[in-house]
Amino acid sequence: MKKIKKLGVFTSGGDAPGMNACIRAVVRTAIYEGLEVCGVYHGYQGMIDNTFIPMNSRSVSSIINLGGTILKSARSDDFRTKEGREIAYKNIREQGIDALVGIGGDGTFRGGQLISQEMGIPIICVPGTIDNDLFGSDYTIGYDTANNTVIEAIDKIRDTAMSHNRLFFVEVMGRDSGCIALHAGIAGGAEAILLPEKKTAIDELIETLEIAAKNNKTSTIVIVAEGENNGGAYNVAKRVKEKFDYYDTKVSILGHLQRGGSPSSFDRVLATRLGYAAVQELLKGNTQATVGMRGQKAVATPLSEALNSNTFKLDKELVKIAKVMAI
Ligand code: ATP
Repeated sequence: MKKIKKLGVFTSGGDAPGMNACIRAVVRTAIYEGLEVCGVYHGYQGMIDNTFIPMNSRSVSSIINLGGTILKSARSDDFRTKEGREIAYKNIREQGIDALVGIGGDGTFRGGQLISQEMGIPIICVPGTIDNDLFGSDYTIGYDTANNTVIEAIDKIRDTAMSHNRLFFVEVMGRDSGCIALHAGIAGGAEAILLPEKKTAIDELIETLEIAAKNNKTSTIVIVAEGENNGGAYNVAKRVKEKFDYYDTKVSILGHLQRGGSPSSFDRVLATRLGYAAVQELLKGNTQATVGMRGQKAVATPLSEALNSNTFKLDKELVKIAKVMAI
């Protein structure tokens, strides 16, 4: 096993609150263990564009509370090509980097697996995405903060919905995963939740809304995950309005505000634990893995296993609980 001397750290894909806390943990753990550390701006694109910067303990001062990522993030089409990756590998070699930690989602994991296979340097990927849709960790960095942001928005929307007897369709992020929609929907007391994992017919939704109206509800909130089967909140609202005009109907798309903001205490601790674990895995000789929390423990899972396993399975009991609570 070759001794690691210099570590590179980067963030990639969609940004998530807590990425900075994780960068900080990686940098400080590596320095504590006697390694040199270098940051890469703009993820895989930065490896190609040669945007590396040396980092020390002070480079990551006062960032644990910041959303976004100080190293910036990017989606790189160049890195998907063999030629692009060859340039990246040459630059990494010239920097003297002999191990990497990448923070991001499943695309970032795929890129990391290629680095390990093609370039032969060890890499540990840390799950950083608000979607909570990665195998190998009960929670991804940013998910808890995003949930809290959505709940805050729902609470505010509820105030205005109640004052005017309104029906609100609130669209939240989640193209493939309904994790945010389901959890924030329950926490925000939503009357109905539309999920990408479960087809909902408009007639079925209208039936739910009619029951809510019969039960003298003065406001109704429907959470719509962006990847559900009816084409998003505007389409759902339009189709519901055609058949059901009991309420004044409004749509609110929460959009990118769900990605920003200061990370919650949960995300800061999660990010710190996983950043620390990533460096420890490299020092133990692990060459390609993701680290995640399973129960109360930080554990490593080979990237090949994480990328080939089923991720978020819809919790049917939670779906039932959401329905029961909406009566
Ligand atoms: P999020 O879950 O927030 O979308 P992500 O990490 O999945 O984050 P992606 O855009 O899917 O975001 O992936 C990040 C980057 O990883 C891509 O822009 C690309 O540069 C690289 N990448 C993804 N898949 C591959 C692949 N199959 N081969 C090479 N590089 C890849």
